[in-house]
Amino acid sequence: MALAIPVLEPPKTLAITGRTERFPVRRAFCIGRNYAAHAREMGFDPDREPPFFFMKSVEAIEPVEAGMTRELPYPSVTKDYHHEAELVVAIGKGGTDIAEADAMSHIFGFASGLDMTRRDLQGEAKKLGRPWEVGKSSDASGPVGPITPYRADFPLKGQLKLSVDGAMRQSATLAAMIWSIPEQIAILSRYFELKPGDLIFTGTPEGVAAVTRGQTMRVEIEGTEPISVKIV
Ligand code: MN
Repeated sequence: MALAIPVLEPPKTLAITGRTERFPVRRAFCIGRNYAAHAREMGFDPDREPPFFFMKSVEAIEPVEAGMTRELPYPSVTKDYHHEAELVVAIGKGGTDIAEADAMSHIFGFASGLDMTRRDLQGEAKKLGRPWEVGKSSDASGPVGPITPYRADFPLKGQLKLSVDGAMRQSATLAAMIWSIPEQIAILSRYFELKPGDLIFTGTPEGVAAVTRGQTMRVEIEGTEPISVKIV
């Protein structure tokens, strides 16, 4: 007997603050080493190597609702599961070769997110020159909170903070990004046609570290809804 033809689930969607409709997720682009102090803590020289892109599967994106603690499973295989708190940009208008000066007009909104990483597997991939998916795209490794719709006064120099069980682990200003948000959109749109529904994880500052089962992470980024995620 042949198996039934698969029936796919509807797209992943994120809450939108102040709206009843939800934001459908198309793709998840991520930026690596976009904060100098984080590049250095990972053993790299940010003056010699610019940031770069990789992707997370949409399957890994997990919506986190406002005011709730989302429980997500500790992933398989790893013994070193790291938090990376990141501002997530949601694209509302697509384009290729977007000019930096126009880039902000392509943004639907901003959210708090986590680029959870199986650091041991990522490290092995780096050492062996292999791709990063097993480190970066594990199930449930991309929790993202509600999207705050774009406003011209969004605090691009605001604070990003991540605490674990109330203890501060990551704290930085978004102004410390190496590639600014308009630069990220302009550069990314040379490599890919950006489309509505795309997310960009804009990189994490220093202070990445492991979490274990039972610990709760809270991400607070000025201008977005905070999120709370418990690893179970
Ligand atoms: Mn990251």
